[in-house]
Amino acid sequence: MDRTYITSLDALHAELRACRRCLEEGYWIVPGPVFSGGQGARVMLIGQAPGITEGQVKRPFNAGSGKRLFQWLGEAGWDEDDFRANAYMTAVTKCYPGPSNNGKGDRVPTPFEQALCRPWLEQEIRLVNPQLMLLVGGLAIKLLYPASARLTELVGTAAYFPPETLAADPLNFDLKQAQIIDDVEQIAGEATNNELRMMNEEGVSTHHSPGGRFVVPLPHPSGVSLWHNKAENQALIRRAIGLLSAIRAAYDL
Ligand code: SF4
Repeated sequence: MDRTYITSLDALHAELRACRRCLEEGYWIVPGPVFSGGQGARVMLIGQAPGITEGQVKRPFNAGSGKRLFQWLGEAGWDEDDFRANAYMTAVTKCYPGPSNNGKGDRVPTPFEQALCRPWLEQEIRLVNPQLMLLVGGLAIKLLYPASARLTELVGTAAYFPPETLAADPLNFDLKQAQIIDDVEQIAGEATNNELRMMNEEGVSTHHSPGGRFVVPLPHPSGVSLWHNKAENQALIRRAIGLLSAIRAAYDL
């Protein structure tokens, strides 16, 4: 891919659909990237890699994982059809990577495949510039958080990037520039602060909603993962859903 920035999402999608980089590098994948959404999306969901049915029908989180994911999102206030229609859904690697060698779930794309696909993801983030980014599963969570961070430390928190940290480049994964939020009360406070920042001299809001970006990590909703079956982890998921619900309400997402 040409490393110069593509300035339209449609143009990016046309190039992305033709991508065969992983195949050309000798990796077993089912070519045909899976993503959905377009310009103007204010929410971006980044998963790990599509599963087999997602690869077949080219629809993100189409099967069992999607059922659990949309149950969580539903509890946060999003209707699945509305979410699919309005959010941008993509993944760290976008082509089905095949089954794992041990037969449990799908193969985890190698770091090299993740690196091959990374420029696509970076361009998607720059062009969509979402106000809320959901990182679903370990590979996506590692886009922002250190590899050593445990899921139990992250789920139930959000990272908030104020508008000034995204002004120069919407692709900001520098955790040091973010505020870590673990209390729903903080969400409304940030929304109010940003609304005040975005008013003109007459006190009229210059934006339809406050700026900045929340990043919320979620565990992978796959049935193969046992993480969300533990009671203590379910409590963390409840906290994450509470944060998402507050962000959705405060930012009208
Ligand atoms: S996973 Fe990404 S880099 Fe690899 S072939 Fe698919 S779109 Fe291209």
